[in-house]
Amino acid sequence: SDADNGAPTIFDKIIAKEIPSNIVYEDEKVLAFRDINPQAPVHILIIPKLRDGLTELGKAEARHGEILGELLYAAKVVAEKEGIVEGFRVVINSGATACQSVYHLHLHVLGGRQLKWPPG
Ligand code: 5GP
Repeated sequence: SDADNGAPTIFDKIIAKEIPSNIVYEDEKVLAFRDINPQAPVHILIIPKLRDGLTELGKAEARHGEILGELLYAAKVVAEKEGIVEGFRVVINSGATACQSVYHLHLHVLGGRQLKWPPG
């Protein structure tokens, strides 16, 4: 799609700390920070520091398997740090049809309230 053209995103500026974010976890490969428009009491975004073509999950290739696993594990670490590990949700919106708005793959970690299913 037009949106997924590989152009830099706002997350590059967050990674570079050119714009502020509320970082909750960081390691060599992964950054986790609070969503600016939270949909739950805890709403954290987890991103790879190196996008490496991962504009969206629907563009993943076999070589991305390792970072994808690390992102998912980071979701658990963040959930534990935030005190929601007994009940939380991980969401990846892939593509415009799924309402993806930033084309740098990211996991949403949501919790801190009773979540509904299906999400709509
Ligand atoms: P998507 O809709 O692509 O799955 O999710 C993008 C998320 O990024 C949205 O939940 C939106 O609130 C969040 N977001 C967009 N711009 C910024 C920003 O500058 N800072 C932070 N912390 N979150 C942002």
